[in-house]
Amino acid sequence: MLSSGWGRYPGIETTAHQPATRTALCRVLASTPASLIARGMGRSYGDASLAAHSVVMTRLDHFIAFDAEAGTLECSAGVTLSAILAVVVPRGWFLPVLPGTGFVTLGGAIAADVHGKNHHHDGSFSQYVDDITLLLADGSILRCSRHEHADLFHASAGGMGLTGIIVAARLRLRAITNSYIDERLLAAPDLDTTLALLTQHEQSTYVVAWLDVNQSGARRGRGIVMLGEHAATGGLETDCRRPLSVPLDMPAWLLGRPVTRAFNALYYARGARNADSHRVHYANYFFPLDALNDWNRLYGRRGFLQHQCVLPPAGAREALGEILRSVTASGLVSPLAVLKGFGAGNDNLLSFPQDGLTLTMDFAHSADSLALCVRLDDIVVAHGGRLYLAKDAAMSAATFRAGYPHWQRFQEVREKYRALGRFASLQSQRLGL
Ligand SMILES: Cc1cc2nc3c(=O)[nH]c(=O)nc-3n(C[C@H](O)[C@H](O)[C@H](O)COP(=O)(O)OP(=O)(O)OC[C@H]3O[C@@H](n4cnc5c(N)ncnc54)[C@H](O)[C@@H]3O)c2cc1C
Repeated sequence: MLSSGWGRYPGIETTAHQPATRTALCRVLASTPASLIARGMGRSYGDASLAAHSVVMTRLDHFIAFDAEAGTLECSAGVTLSAILAVVVPRGWFLPVLPGTGFVTLGGAIAADVHGKNHHHDGSFSQYVDDITLLLADGSILRCSRHEHADLFHASAGGMGLTGIIVAARLRLRAITNSYIDERLLAAPDLDTTLALLTQHEQSTYVVAWLDVNQSGARRGRGIVMLGEHAATGGLETDCRRPLSVPLDMPAWLLGRPVTRAFNALYYARGARNADSHRVHYANYFFPLDALNDWNRLYGRRGFLQHQCVLPPAGAREALGEILRSVTASGLVSPLAVLKGFGAGNDNLLSFPQDGLTLTMDFAHSADSLALCVRLDDIVVAHGGRLYLAKDAAMSAATFRAGYPHWQRFQEVREKYRALGRFASLQSQRLGL
């Protein structure tokens, strides 16, 4: 079958194994002489979950243990974050870190060490994982944590499936009294105001800015800063939205310049009008795009690239200016862009978040957008930043090595656990891992 990530670029013919039990999973590993890679919901954008042989983990979706008093949970790696929330929210518990979609498996969330709108306060997903049960290259199953096989834990959390296959994990939940978030929107007419508001409100639990990167001149970098706090009152309802679907691939012009500019202008005006605090369900707050199934088809058959970088604080303002100028100079548009502040990084060898600002932009896939990404990568590297592996489809090995100084240590851990050559993806091959 033809397989791709969420951005639908690149694609590869894959033999997709779909074990439903641990025994079947071990059998897949034993009977596949070639290298392989684990795959969850395929929500990483580029080629991190692509290989000639993939092990799709979504049928390993069992809840193993839930302590509703202590707020701890053990699940198989194929359970999605949405499914976890559906079980724990009615009992007054929540996941401490959520990415922008609930259609992500537990294994995928750990392998990419995903972050949310609260990274500046709460760090990334793996910081709430107590231990990981991993299938290793030799067929053995090992439990690793910060205290036991700590080298394997810190290589596997954020390690993009390259140390082994995550079979299950235990994690800590956050207590909540209701399912709702009080949201406030603050309009910022230019980049400096957007940055000032992000700093001014860094005490808020959730902070993120939607950014209009397609404007130039005085409006360059205008945005809507979105603040969120868990509400004080309300019920413990779960997500009961009925998503609509994009039934077919849309023509590539749909998200071109005129529609993107009109959409961004409307979005900005709507945000500027709604400054008062309003209450939204967690699903609408954290996963707005999940209301539209297959929204990646809006970009057309050729797919799209998502570029996400983090820029250290010292040169972040200058780098952002250069990036935004490069985007407008290219003539390309990004229908959706997001800017947020990260707190300190953690001890994992390849986790993406580090102190600074992270900018995410989408571009329809073309030779021009690939060339633009190379120019953006150069700006990021020149300012000491790095790119997110879960979004990447195109960075060079040199860009990767510049951004991830622990990559050699990562390779040593892989060698120790005999993962080199056994677990590999198109991405790991491109990056020389
Ligand atoms: C709309 C949208 C919004 C997003 N927002 C955010 C965000 O805010 N923050 C953020 O951090 N990310 C975000 N992401 C990215 C997404 O959270 C990550 O790419 C996540 O890893 C996807 O999980 P998955 O189950 O789909 O894994 P896949 O995409 O299938 O795989 C991702 C990586 O995890 C590895 N992997 C998957 N399962 C296992 C396993 N069981 N064992 C070992 N390795 C495994 C794969 O080999 C691959 O390297 C977003 C994605 C989308 C589509």
